[in-house]
Amino acid sequence: MPYEITGHTVLTGLLGSPVAHSISPMMHNESFKVLGLDYAYLAFDVDTDHLKTAVEGLKALGVRGFNLTMPDKNLMAAYCDRLSPAAEIIGAVNTVVNDNGILTGHTTDGTGYMEAAKDAGYDLTGKTMTLLGGGGAATAICVQAAIDGLEKIHVFNRKDAFFQRLQSLVDTINARTHCRVLLHDLADTHALAGAIGESHILTNATSVGMAPDTDACLITDPALLRPDLIVSDVIYNPRETRLLKMAKKAGCPTFNGMYMLLYQGAAAFKLWTGQDMPIAHIKEKYFS
Ligand code: NAD
Repeated sequence: MPYEITGHTVLTGLLGSPVAHSISPMMHNESFKVLGLDYAYLAFDVDTDHLKTAVEGLKALGVRGFNLTMPDKNLMAAYCDRLSPAAEIIGAVNTVVNDNGILTGHTTDGTGYMEAAKDAGYDLTGKTMTLLGGGGAATAICVQAAIDGLEKIHVFNRKDAFFQRLQSLVDTINARTHCRVLLHDLADTHALAGAIGESHILTNATSVGMAPDTDACLITDPALLRPDLIVSDVIYNPRETRLLKMAKKAGCPTFNGMYMLLYQGAAAFKLWTGQDMPIAHIKEKYFS
């Protein structure tokens, strides 16, 4: 069946700045086409100064929902009528569902990461994680990993603006889940070595190592990486960060941020359409 925009086409999309590089329009539009759904997904370059106006416009137009990327994820939480439990804890949303003018904010980055770990063959239930970062991606992962039953998470962040907000987030996760989350200063190399030593998985959820600064890496001592440590990076550009290269060299199993991107999109797709994204097809077409 040819894919056509009709008078009934339901609109979804992405707000952020920049957005032109995003793979999301291809991923969603191809899925709509494969499943024969009369939906379309467009990318809109909207910064925080114009977010409120854009959201009011989208609401008035009756869109089904939209994704948010940087820099709009935090501010969007304030414009939602309701928040999912995970979005409420982290105070950020990457997916909005519009039910007749009621906007519900969700965060699917955390579920995307946990699905990516499963896809790579890892069940993290009852396991210990060392998580580098305290920004949007890291907090989403931390909350979802705690909800999904990890036993302990060591969070490391440098003492920047993110660090100040992290302690209250960590306290909330500790109060609401059975997971034990501990916050450390990234500069504390002794604590970092100890945490990695008792962890099953090390995850970089900072932007360190992302293009164009691909030589950067927060782990400077390769001796911290032992062959039974899973090492993952949420970065997908480059597909193999310096951290993942080091980890492979040390014999560690690794996975990158590509499938986190895929599965966070699949979770949004399900929220809007009620249907499963055709994962195998999308993987082959855009992620191989
Ligand atoms: P953010 O700005 O919210 O957070 C950035 C984090 O990196 C903070 O913890 C900050 O302290 C840390 N950081 C930055 N520079 C640092 C440095 N020089 N030294 C130590 N720490 C430093 O960003 P975000 O939205 O959390 O994104 C982080 C990364 O995750 C980006 O590379 C982004 O592309 C990636 N990401 C991937 C996916 C996916 O689906 N794979 C989803 C979201 C984000």
